[in-house]
Amino acid sequence: MTGNTVYLDWAASTPLRPEALKVLQAEARIFANPSSPHTPGREARERLEAARAKVARALGAEPIEIFFTGGATESCNMAIKGAIFAAIAAGRKKPHIVTSAFEHHAVLEPVEWLQKMGLARATIVEPDTEGIVAAERIVEAVTPDTVLVSLMLVNNEVGTIQPVGEVARLLGEINRSRETPVLLHTDATQGVPYVLTTVRDLGVDMLSLSGHKFGAPKGVGALYKRKGVRIQPLLHGGSHERGLRAGTENFLSICAMAEALEATVAERPQEKTRLEKLRAGFESELLASIPRTEINGHRQLRSPHVSNIYFADLEAEALLVALDVAGIAVTSGSACTSEKLGSSHVLMSMFHDQKRSDGSLRFSFGWETTQDHVDTALEVLSRSVEKLRLIAGRV
Ligand SMILES: *Cc1c(COP(=O)(O)O)cnc(C)c1O
Repeated sequence: MTGNTVYLDWAASTPLRPEALKVLQAEARIFANPSSPHTPGREARERLEAARAKVARALGAEPIEIFFTGGATESCNMAIKGAIFAAIAAGRKKPHIVTSAFEHHAVLEPVEWLQKMGLARATIVEPDTEGIVAAERIVEAVTPDTVLVSLMLVNNEVGTIQPVGEVARLLGEINRSRETPVLLHTDATQGVPYVLTTVRDLGVDMLSLSGHKFGAPKGVGALYKRKGVRIQPLLHGGSHERGLRAGTENFLSICAMAEALEATVAERPQEKTRLEKLRAGFESELLASIPRTEINGHRQLRSPHVSNIYFADLEAEALLVALDVAGIAVTSGSACTSEKLGSSHVLMSMFHDQKRSDGSLRFSFGWETTQDHVDTALEVLSRSVEKLRLIAGRV
């Protein structure tokens, strides 16, 4: 941890896993271009393909189904725009997309952009107040023009688990009577550590992930694309990643990500249980000791690393600052939107209540989070919340 900071923002980013750091150091001597035909180049290529095989194994996929990218933002863009461009190239007019209102901006903004450019049409399905998007609602939105459904596996602000497998099953039935199947993409970035099993279990056509959410460096990620699914590339300039992503591969980060993913998957069952217990203690203690607090998001259908709490009569931003001063790092929503302070499109889509959105804070946990960290946070929280409510005259 950085100094004495209690870091409770694991959904925003994670520290390097020791396994990833070790690989970065060990492989740093390898610098040749993996596309070069000489011996050092072939060695780099071998290591890169070993990393691909490792990522594939961790996801239950085949190596040829794994494409390395610069993170989940790129993977989501590649899946969404790539599928729409492929449909347009195949002669489809204004393909239709179905997605949810509380996706990460990495999904929402490409969809918005495609609409703005007149290239696609979209239906945005809202979650319920528990932060779950009903599978039936997604499938009901499918029209004959629909090319792609994109539904996140775990919401990054409230941690709720979406019925992606159920959507896959229902789409499978629809697809039986269609000439061109509706593709299913999932942004599984927050699902990788504790929720994802395998891509085959989920039944998706494409899946996006980001390395730095599970102990790899920032700026590296992957797209799983099932064999036979056709998308157009976003980057042109070489035949890297089998023609789908031009540019010399981010070799070191890719090797580190494969290692981090393998370690994550190996620890998944124990860590899931440990964090479930840790969070249950955090939440029951918090709800018992601080009046007028509520949990945002479904109690059971939630990844164990996220706890989003509503503090009535409080500005979450003020609480965030008070916690920061006390050495506790949390965020109110997605880090990417922190410039639009206080306004969470996720909480707004669930509650349509500005006060609830402004009064909510996300606590997120990871493999270095201990009971001590949680106890410190609880102690500071009970002091700070009362003080802030007093100042606001709301006790
Ligand atoms: C972090 C995150 C992303 C974006 O990942 P980058 O590494 O910033 O590209 C996308 N979706 C979700 C759900 C995330 O949590």
